[in-house]
Amino acid sequence: MSESCNQDCSSCSKSCASREPGSLLEKPHAQSRIGKVIGVVSGKGGVGKSMISSMLAVNFQKKGYRTAIMDADITGPSIPKVFGVTEKATGDENAIYPVVTKSGIQIMSVNLLLEKDTDPVIWRGPVIAGTVKQFWQDVVWDNVDYMFVDMPPGTGDVPLTVFQSIPIDGIVIVTSPQELVSMIVGKAVKMAQMMNVPIVGIIENMSYAECPDCGKPIKIFGESHIKEVAVKYHLPVLGQIPITPSISGASDAGNVEELDGDWFAVTVSAIEAMP
Ligand code: ADP
Repeated sequence: MSESCNQDCSSCSKSCASREPGSLLEKPHAQSRIGKVIGVVSGKGGVGKSMISSMLAVNFQKKGYRTAIMDADITGPSIPKVFGVTEKATGDENAIYPVVTKSGIQIMSVNLLLEKDTDPVIWRGPVIAGTVKQFWQDVVWDNVDYMFVDMPPGTGDVPLTVFQSIPIDGIVIVTSPQELVSMIVGKAVKMAQMMNVPIVGIIENMSYAECPDCGKPIKIFGESHIKEVAVKYHLPVLGQIPITPSISGASDAGNVEELDGDWFAVTVSAIEAMP
Protein backbone atom coordinates (compact mmCIF):
# COMPACT_ATOMS: atom_id res chain seq x y z
CA MET A 1 0.00 0.00 0.00
CA SER A 2 1.27 3.51 -0.82
CA GLU A 3 2.09 5.81 2.13
CA SER A 4 -0.41 8.33 0.77
CA CYS A 5 -3.18 5.73 0.32
CA ASN A 6 -6.67 7.24 0.65
CA GLN A 7 -8.40 3.86 0.09
CA ASP A 8 -9.80 5.06 -3.24
CA CYS A 9 -8.29 2.84 -5.94
CA SER A 10 -10.27 4.62 -8.65
CA SER A 11 -8.27 7.84 -8.23
CA CYS A 12 -4.90 6.13 -7.78
CA SER A 13 -2.60 4.71 -10.42
CA LYS A 14 -0.41 2.67 -8.02
CA SER A 15 -0.47 -1.06 -8.54
CA CYS A 16 -0.24 -2.49 -5.06
CA ALA A 17 -1.23 -5.77 -3.43
CA SER A 18 -4.13 -4.17 -1.56
CA ARG A 19 -5.68 -2.79 -4.76
CA GLU A 20 -9.44 -3.16 -4.64
CA PRO A 21 -10.12 -6.78 -5.62
CA GLY A 22 -11.89 -7.14 -8.94
CA SER A 23 -11.24 -3.56 -10.07
CA LEU A 24 -10.78 -3.49 -13.83
CA LEU A 25 -9.89 0.20 -13.97
CA GLU A 26 -7.04 0.93 -16.33
CA LYS A 27 -4.28 3.42 -15.61
CA PRO A 28 -3.90 6.47 -17.83
CA HIS A 29 -0.59 7.19 -19.60
CA ALA A 30 2.12 8.25 -17.15
CA GLN A 31 2.37 11.68 -18.83
CA SER A 32 -1.38 12.36 -18.74
CA ARG A 33 -3.09 14.49 -16.17
CA ILE A 34 -6.86 14.15 -16.27
CA GLY A 35 -9.17 15.88 -13.81
CA LYS A 36 -12.89 15.08 -13.92
CA VAL A 37 -14.20 12.54 -16.45
CA ILE A 38 -17.81 12.96 -17.56
CA GLY A 39 -19.50 10.25 -19.65
CA VAL A 40 -22.26 11.31 -22.04
CA VAL A 41 -24.60 8.38 -22.57
CA SER A 42 -27.78 7.58 -24.46
CA GLY A 43 -29.98 4.54 -24.84
CA LYS A 44 -29.55 4.51 -28.61
CA GLY A 45 -27.76 6.35 -31.40
CA GLY A 46 -28.94 9.48 -33.18
CA VAL A 47 -30.33 11.38 -30.17
CA GLY A 48 -27.58 14.01 -30.10
CA LYS A 49 -25.04 12.48 -27.70
CA SER A 50 -22.07 13.60 -29.79
CA MET A 51 -23.50 17.06 -30.29
CA ILE A 52 -23.98 17.45 -26.53
CA SER A 53 -20.50 16.03 -25.70
CA SER A 54 -19.06 18.60 -28.12
CA MET A 55 -21.12 21.52 -26.83
CA LEU A 56 -20.27 20.74 -23.20
CA ALA A 57 -16.57 20.71 -24.09
CA VAL A 58 -16.97 24.00 -26.02
CA ASN A 59 -18.71 25.60 -23.03
CA PHE A 60 -16.06 24.43 -20.54
CA GLN A 61 -13.22 25.52 -22.83
CA LYS A 62 -14.85 28.98 -23.15
CA LYS A 63 -14.92 29.20 -19.36
CA GLY A 64 -11.15 28.79 -19.28
CA TYR A 65 -10.88 25.10 -18.35
CA ARG A 66 -8.52 22.79 -20.19
CA THR A 67 -10.92 20.43 -21.94
CA ALA A 68 -10.84 17.18 -23.91
CA ILE A 69 -13.22 14.82 -25.69
CA MET A 70 -12.64 11.11 -25.97
CA ASP A 71 -14.81 9.77 -28.80
CA ALA A 72 -15.64 6.32 -27.47
CA ASP A 73 -18.45 5.91 -30.02
CA ILE A 74 -16.11 3.82 -32.15
CA THR A 75 -18.63 2.63 -34.74
CA GLY A 76 -20.30 6.04 -35.14
CA PRO A 77 -17.48 8.55 -34.60
CA SER A 78 -18.54 12.12 -35.32
CA ILE A 79 -16.45 14.35 -33.04
CA PRO A 80 -13.72 15.33 -35.57
CA LYS A 81 -16.37 16.22 -38.16
CA VAL A 82 -18.37 18.59 -35.95
CA PHE A 83 -15.12 20.43 -35.08
CA GLY A 84 -14.04 20.55 -38.72
CA VAL A 85 -10.86 18.60 -37.90
CA THR A 86 -9.35 16.85 -40.91
CA GLU A 87 -5.77 16.25 -39.74
CA LYS A 88 -4.73 12.86 -38.33
CA ALA A 89 -3.49 12.07 -34.83
CA THR A 90 0.23 11.50 -34.46
CA GLY A 91 2.13 9.01 -32.36
CA ASP A 92 5.55 7.63 -31.52
CA GLU A 93 6.86 4.60 -29.63
CA ASN A 94 5.88 6.30 -26.38
CA ALA A 95 2.32 7.46 -27.00
CA ILE A 96 -0.49 8.71 -29.24
CA TYR A 97 -1.14 12.46 -29.22
CA PRO A 98 -4.61 14.02 -29.50
CA VAL A 99 -5.51 16.55 -32.17
CA VAL A 100 -6.23 20.03 -30.82
CA THR A 101 -9.21 22.00 -32.16
CA LYS A 102 -9.24 25.72 -33.05
CA SER A 103 -10.24 26.74 -29.52
CA GLY A 104 -7.79 24.32 -27.86
CA ILE A 105 -9.93 21.24 -27.07
CA GLN A 106 -7.94 17.98 -27.19
CA ILE A 107 -9.77 15.24 -29.10
CA MET A 108 -9.18 11.58 -29.85
CA SER A 109 -11.37 9.55 -32.17
CA VAL A 110 -10.96 6.47 -34.31
CA ASN A 111 -11.56 8.75 -37.30
CA LEU A 112 -8.27 10.52 -36.49
CA LEU A 113 -6.48 7.19 -36.91
CA LEU A 114 -8.21 5.73 -39.98
CA GLU A 115 -6.65 6.41 -43.34
CA LYS A 116 -10.04 7.37 -44.79
CA ASP A 117 -12.64 8.62 -42.33
CA THR A 118 -15.38 7.21 -44.54
CA ASP A 119 -14.09 3.67 -43.89
CA PRO A 120 -16.56 1.74 -41.72
CA VAL A 121 -15.31 0.23 -38.47
CA ILE A 122 -16.30 -3.43 -38.75
CA TRP A 123 -14.91 -4.75 -35.50
CA ARG A 124 -16.23 -7.09 -32.85
CA GLY A 125 -17.03 -5.85 -29.32
CA PRO A 126 -13.72 -6.76 -27.61
CA VAL A 127 -11.69 -4.95 -30.29
CA ILE A 128 -13.90 -1.88 -29.99
CA ALA A 129 -13.63 -1.89 -26.20
CA GLY A 130 -9.85 -2.42 -26.50
CA THR A 131 -9.59 0.68 -28.69
CA VAL A 132 -11.38 2.79 -26.08
CA LYS A 133 -9.02 1.45 -23.40
CA GLN A 134 -6.08 2.48 -25.60
CA PHE A 135 -7.53 5.99 -25.88
CA TRP A 136 -7.27 6.11 -22.09
CA GLN A 137 -3.95 4.31 -21.59
CA ASP A 138 -1.85 5.24 -24.61
CA VAL A 139 -2.93 8.80 -25.38
CA VAL A 140 -1.08 11.61 -23.63
CA TRP A 141 -3.85 13.91 -22.37
CA ASP A 142 -2.14 17.17 -21.59
CA ASN A 143 -3.19 18.63 -18.25
CA VAL A 144 -6.94 18.26 -18.75
CA ASP A 145 -9.43 19.71 -16.23
CA TYR A 146 -12.58 18.18 -17.78
CA MET A 147 -12.73 15.24 -20.17
CA PHE A 148 -16.03 14.39 -21.88
CA VAL A 149 -16.40 10.80 -23.05
CA ASP A 150 -18.84 10.39 -25.96
CA MET A 151 -19.89 6.90 -24.86
CA PRO A 152 -20.90 4.05 -27.17
CA PRO A 153 -24.72 4.09 -27.35
CA GLY A 154 -26.85 1.54 -25.53
CA THR A 155 -26.21 -0.75 -22.58
CA GLY A 156 -24.37 -3.63 -24.26
CA ASP A 157 -20.93 -5.11 -23.62
CA VAL A 158 -18.97 -2.21 -25.12
CA PRO A 159 -20.39 0.58 -22.91
CA LEU A 160 -20.14 -1.81 -19.97
CA THR A 161 -16.43 -2.42 -20.57
CA VAL A 162 -15.84 1.31 -20.92
CA PHE A 163 -17.59 1.91 -17.58
CA GLN A 164 -15.43 -0.77 -15.96
CA SER A 165 -12.13 0.40 -17.45
CA ILE A 166 -12.27 4.19 -17.17
CA PRO A 167 -12.80 5.99 -13.85
CA ILE A 168 -15.88 8.01 -14.82
CA ASP A 169 -16.82 10.64 -12.23
CA GLY A 170 -20.36 11.23 -13.47
CA ILE A 171 -22.66 10.76 -16.42
CA VAL A 172 -25.06 12.97 -18.32
CA ILE A 173 -27.95 11.05 -19.92
CA VAL A 174 -29.13 12.37 -23.29
CA THR A 175 -32.54 11.38 -24.51
CA SER A 176 -35.03 12.24 -27.21
CA PRO A 177 -38.72 12.78 -26.43
CA GLN A 178 -39.62 9.36 -27.92
CA GLU A 179 -37.12 7.53 -25.70
CA LEU A 180 -38.75 9.02 -22.62
CA VAL A 181 -41.88 7.00 -23.25
CA SER A 182 -39.94 3.75 -23.61
CA MET A 183 -37.81 1.80 -21.12
CA ILE A 184 -34.51 2.90 -22.68
CA VAL A 185 -33.76 5.65 -20.15
CA GLY A 186 -34.45 3.26 -17.27
CA LYS A 187 -31.86 0.84 -18.67
CA ALA A 188 -29.19 3.57 -18.90
CA VAL A 189 -29.98 4.62 -15.31
CA LYS A 190 -29.71 1.01 -14.06
CA MET A 191 -26.39 0.50 -15.84
CA ALA A 192 -24.93 3.62 -14.17
CA GLN A 193 -26.25 2.51 -10.78
CA MET A 194 -24.79 -0.98 -11.20
CA MET A 195 -21.44 0.55 -12.10
CA ASN A 196 -21.67 2.92 -9.13
CA VAL A 197 -21.31 5.99 -11.31
CA PRO A 198 -23.17 9.12 -10.16
CA ILE A 199 -25.71 10.58 -12.62
CA VAL A 200 -25.35 14.36 -13.04
CA GLY A 201 -28.78 14.53 -14.70
CA ILE A 202 -30.79 14.13 -17.86
CA ILE A 203 -31.03 16.33 -20.98
CA GLU A 204 -33.93 16.09 -23.41
CA ASN A 205 -32.65 16.89 -26.88
CA MET A 206 -34.82 17.69 -29.90
CA SER A 207 -37.44 18.55 -27.31
CA TYR A 208 -39.40 21.03 -29.46
CA ALA A 209 -39.02 23.27 -32.50
CA GLU A 210 -39.43 27.03 -32.51
CA CYS A 211 -41.79 28.71 -34.96
CA PRO A 212 -39.53 30.86 -37.16
CA ASP A 213 -42.19 33.61 -37.30
CA CYS A 214 -43.48 33.92 -33.73
CA GLY A 215 -40.92 31.91 -31.71
CA LYS A 216 -43.68 29.76 -30.19
CA PRO A 217 -42.50 26.24 -29.27
CA ILE A 218 -43.98 23.52 -31.48
CA LYS A 219 -44.12 20.20 -29.64
CA ILE A 220 -43.53 17.87 -32.56
CA PHE A 221 -43.61 14.76 -30.38
CA GLY A 222 -46.44 15.95 -28.10
CA GLU A 223 -46.09 16.90 -24.43
CA SER A 224 -42.72 16.07 -22.92
CA HIS A 225 -42.45 13.27 -20.35
CA ILE A 226 -39.13 14.44 -18.94
CA LYS A 227 -40.56 15.58 -15.61
CA GLU A 228 -42.22 12.20 -14.91
CA VAL A 229 -39.08 10.30 -15.89
CA ALA A 230 -36.93 12.60 -13.73
CA VAL A 231 -39.18 12.00 -10.71
CA LYS A 232 -39.33 8.24 -11.35
CA TYR A 233 -35.54 7.86 -11.41
CA HIS A 234 -34.67 10.78 -9.08
CA LEU A 235 -32.72 12.62 -11.77
CA PRO A 236 -32.15 16.38 -12.05
CA VAL A 237 -33.40 17.80 -15.38
CA LEU A 238 -30.44 19.64 -16.91
CA GLY A 239 -32.16 21.06 -19.97
CA GLN A 240 -34.56 20.76 -22.88
CA ILE A 241 -32.88 21.60 -26.16
CA PRO A 242 -34.86 22.56 -29.27
CA ILE A 243 -34.36 20.96 -32.62
CA THR A 244 -32.91 23.84 -34.60
CA PRO A 245 -31.13 24.37 -37.91
CA SER A 246 -28.41 26.36 -36.12
CA ILE A 247 -27.27 23.15 -34.34
CA SER A 248 -27.50 20.81 -37.32
CA GLY A 249 -25.94 23.49 -39.58
CA ALA A 250 -22.99 24.06 -37.22
CA SER A 251 -22.41 20.29 -36.89
CA ASP A 252 -22.52 19.78 -40.65
CA ALA A 253 -20.18 22.72 -41.29
CA GLY A 254 -17.70 21.68 -38.59
CA ASN A 255 -18.33 24.94 -36.71
CA VAL A 256 -19.61 23.87 -33.30
CA GLU A 257 -17.07 26.12 -31.60
CA GLU A 258 -18.86 29.14 -33.09
CA LEU A 259 -22.37 28.03 -32.13
CA ASP A 260 -24.17 30.49 -29.82
CA GLY A 261 -26.97 29.44 -27.51
CA ASP A 262 -27.39 29.27 -23.78
CA TRP A 263 -28.74 25.74 -23.57
CA PHE A 264 -26.06 24.26 -21.33
CA ALA A 265 -25.76 26.71 -18.41
CA VAL A 266 -27.51 24.38 -15.92
CA THR A 267 -25.46 21.34 -17.04
CA VAL A 268 -22.20 23.28 -16.81
CA SER A 269 -23.02 24.47 -13.27
CA ALA A 270 -24.06 20.95 -12.21
CA ILE A 271 -20.77 19.49 -13.46
CA GLU A 272 -18.72 22.29 -11.88
CA ALA A 273 -20.51 21.63 -8.58
CA MET A 274 -19.53 17.94 -8.56
CA PRO A 275 -17.41 17.04 -5.53
P1 ADP B 1 -25.61 10.58 -31.53
O1 ADP B 1 -24.23 10.93 -31.07
O2 ADP B 1 -26.56 10.38 -30.38
O3 ADP B 1 -25.65 9.44 -32.50
P2 ADP B 1 -25.49 13.10 -32.98
O4 ADP B 1 -25.00 14.05 -31.92
O5 ADP B 1 -24.49 12.62 -33.98
O6 ADP B 1 -26.22 11.84 -32.31
O7 ADP B 1 -26.75 13.77 -33.68
C1 ADP B 1 -27.39 13.16 -34.79
C2 ADP B 1 -27.72 14.23 -35.84
O8 ADP B 1 -28.70 15.13 -35.33
C3 ADP B 1 -26.52 15.10 -36.21
O9 ADP B 1 -26.57 15.40 -37.57
C4 ADP B 1 -26.70 16.36 -35.37
O10 ADP B 1 -26.14 17.51 -35.99
C5 ADP B 1 -28.22 16.47 -35.34
N1 ADP B 1 -28.71 17.12 -34.11
C6 ADP B 1 -28.48 16.73 -32.85
N2 ADP B 1 -29.14 17.53 -31.99
C7 ADP B 1 -29.80 18.45 -32.73
C8 ADP B 1 -30.67 19.57 -32.43
N3 ADP B 1 -30.99 19.87 -31.17
N4 ADP B 1 -31.13 20.31 -33.47
C9 ADP B 1 -30.83 19.98 -34.75
N5 ADP B 1 -30.03 18.95 -35.09
C10 ADP B 1 -29.53 18.18 -34.10
